[in-house]
Amino acid sequence: MKKILIGLTRQECEQFAEDIGEKKYRGRQIYKWIYEKRAASFEQMSDLPQTLREKLREHALLGFMTVAEIDDRSSSGSVKYLFRLPDGRHIESVYIPEANRTTLCISSQVGCALNCRFCATARLGLKRNLTAGEIVEQALAIMRLRDEDITNIVFMGMGEPFANYDNVIKAAAIFTDDNGMAIGARRTVISTSGLADKIKRYADEGHKYRLAISLNSPFQEQRAELMPIAKKWDLDALLQAVRYYAIKSRKAPTFEYVLLAGVNDSHRHALALKKIVKSMPCKLNLIPYNPTVELFSRPDKEHVDQFARWLLPLNTGLSVRWSKGDDVNAACGQLAGKQSEWVR
Ligand code: SF4
Repeated sequence: MKKILIGLTRQECEQFAEDIGEKKYRGRQIYKWIYEKRAASFEQMSDLPQTLREKLREHALLGFMTVAEIDDRSSSGSVKYLFRLPDGRHIESVYIPEANRTTLCISSQVGCALNCRFCATARLGLKRNLTAGEIVEQALAIMRLRDEDITNIVFMGMGEPFANYDNVIKAAAIFTDDNGMAIGARRTVISTSGLADKIKRYADEGHKYRLAISLNSPFQEQRAELMPIAKKWDLDALLQAVRYYAIKSRKAPTFEYVLLAGVNDSHRHALALKKIVKSMPCKLNLIPYNPTVELFSRPDKEHVDQFARWLLPLNTGLSVRWSKGDDVNAACGQLAGKQSEWVR
């Protein structure tokens, strides 16, 4: 069987070169072609001898996802990419241009098992984890298609990144390797819905990527209704893990709070949220809901501003993030793959 090269680390590329009877440094050259020069074919790897390029064609594939659809109708400039995987499944990634950066929101699983009530991805159920190569290939394919660099990566697409921990961490290492894609670790954000055990592991392993936690309610009972994962890892356990991370890593995690009209946007919610945020070094992002699931709606702008004022004074960074791309269902919580694959 041919070896898929996208998703291999530098050491694995060296090992692959040796496995096909080449010197280690050839592996490093191949690595650079894949991740730094973003070669789309072995033919483009012009400083490799022709015999080696032929050997690569015989023994390897660069990657094998295909772009099934590109939706660039959003007035915000965001573009949604639907990729078809080798097993016929689909995943989505979103390109988000801003004044001083370009961000890619990428998927870590096909679907998701966690069934958050407000999330479109949950409709798919979990089909499977993505490989590290399938995670990295989303970014490489989009960079190639657009012929431009990406400055930021956020693991906020389809899936719970920490439910596919090893592949996500491997992909993040490839994204941020200075010898390859060289995206800054501080510009790479891994978001979790609250797997407390994985947050602790992440802290213990000392990763430099930024951590975001999807909070969405300051009350255990309501949070468990909105996000069933909170029945396994309750709010106390989650906050304890996040505090552990903040102390151990000396980095401020970011709490993400999706504002759902009439559900979690009251004065009482704001005061309880403020208490949590003030209890540790952290940042807070308020995200007015992108209507996707019929049960919920977005509070109006005045109410969002009021909610933010209720939180003040806050000794930390507070921002309101109006998601871009909601006009083409490319915003936070709106990625749902192909409708024909929904199970919920
Ligand atoms: S919000 Fe995230 S964790 Fe929750 S169901 Fe959607 S993809 Fe999964």
